[in-house]
Amino acid sequence: MQEIKRDLVIIGGGPAGLAAAAAAREAGCEDILLIERDRILGGILNQCIHDGFGLHRFGEALTGPEYAQRYIDEISDLGIETLLGTIVLSMDRERKLTVSSRKGYTRIHAGAVTLAMGCRERTAGAISLPGTHPSGIYTAGTAQNFINLQNIMVGRRAVILGSGDIGLIMARRLTLEGAKVEAVFELLPYASGLPRNIQQCLNDYDIPLYLGTSVIEVHGKDRLTGVTVAEINHFRPVPGTERFLPCDTLLLSVGLIPENELSAGASVKMESGTSGAFVDDTFMTSIPGVFSCGNVLHVHDLVDHVSEEAALAGEFACRYLGGGISRVDAPISIEPKNGVRYVLPQQVSGTSDFTLSLRVTEPSRGRAVWVREGDRKVARKKLVRLHPAEMIRVKIKKDKLENARKLEVSVE
Ligand SMILES: Cc1cc2nc3c(=O)[nH]c(=O)nc-3n(C[C@H](O)[C@H](O)[C@H](O)COP(=O)(O)OP(=O)(O)OC[C@H]3O[C@@H](n4cnc5c(N)ncnc54)[C@H](O)[C@@H]3O)c2cc1C
Repeated sequence: MQEIKRDLVIIGGGPAGLAAAAAAREAGCEDILLIERDRILGGILNQCIHDGFGLHRFGEALTGPEYAQRYIDEISDLGIETLLGTIVLSMDRERKLTVSSRKGYTRIHAGAVTLAMGCRERTAGAISLPGTHPSGIYTAGTAQNFINLQNIMVGRRAVILGSGDIGLIMARRLTLEGAKVEAVFELLPYASGLPRNIQQCLNDYDIPLYLGTSVIEVHGKDRLTGVTVAEINHFRPVPGTERFLPCDTLLLSVGLIPENELSAGASVKMESGTSGAFVDDTFMTSIPGVFSCGNVLHVHDLVDHVSEEAALAGEFACRYLGGGISRVDAPISIEPKNGVRYVLPQQVSGTSDFTLSLRVTEPSRGRAVWVREGDRKVARKKLVRLHPAEMIRVKIKKDKLENARKLEVSVE
């Protein structure tokens, strides 16, 4: 097997990997290798041909491919080496990577690694979808890939299960392509997707959204013929509310899972709240020199936030290589409390300002996110609307952290 050495290896050429690579180079890292298993860079953005990307980052509404292209051009201008059609198969705690491509296997010894592998969708199997499993059942992202990248229409009469953003966007996409979208059904009492997508993808096209309702049976032998839906109470169908809906297509938009098989294989410490790595305020994981960012760290609401976070992770990886980052003896831990589903970073040094990213457990209005150390207020952010679909960010100043040991983050 061929053996090579690199200062910084970035795994994944989506928006996170691209932004991390550009920022690392700008911070002075000369020897960077970006590895992507697909034949092109850009990650999942390549199939997101609708607009609305980049409003925060560029102040413009770009399509996914346009947004990605800005970064692809940047890393090309910066002369960053990329390996396409190459998959990282494993990583160990000494940052040795095994990669496979058409040329065979290569072992790479990396000074630092940035994990940017993105996430994948939950499937019918993952949610134990009841009934037969004929053709016509797709994850929303698979349908997006068929329609937008391969010009293959997936069906004519669709039902969407789950109100995640990709499902909402596909409800509109299918309608624009001439299909009839009967409805979106959501198990929870509130929508999982962003309010702007509910308005622009469902309300604007008169597609109904039923909350507290789910598909309780799938019908069809070779091809889907319909689904039975019912209201749900305490995860059980409410008797008498069942109804049959004929359809030939069922799209699932029931959650995303960070692709952390490589991280787990190297025994990176993981967090149950995010299904991503445990990181500090430099985005370094429990393995020194291994950083994580983007959707593999936690599922983001907007790609603009992915790019911003990944740029920091890339810059810190560069600083690590130059000896500019070391662990402090007594880090400050950060824990989610009342009303907060997760918060990251999970640990900070307290020696510099940082930004907390968090998600709440349920929608509410006119409440505040509090960050406390014991009884002492460290930060407070008042919000008009809090929603689990929207990531909340709170800036923390280092001068508020004197003698702090543990920060608790809650909604009050
Ligand atoms: C189907 C789908 C549709 C989406 N649509 C939208 C949308 O419309 N709007 C929006 O704001 N957000 C959308 N998102 C969220 C979107 O994923 C993020 O905003 C953003 O793309 C995340 O960037 P990333 O670089 O972390 O991940 P990705 O874009 O997923 O990129 C990860 C890259 O890593 C590569 N990779 C993974 N493992 C390996 C490996 N072992 N070796 C080599 N390469 C590897 C993958 O091939 C991929 O190219 C969507 C997500 C999905 C899954």
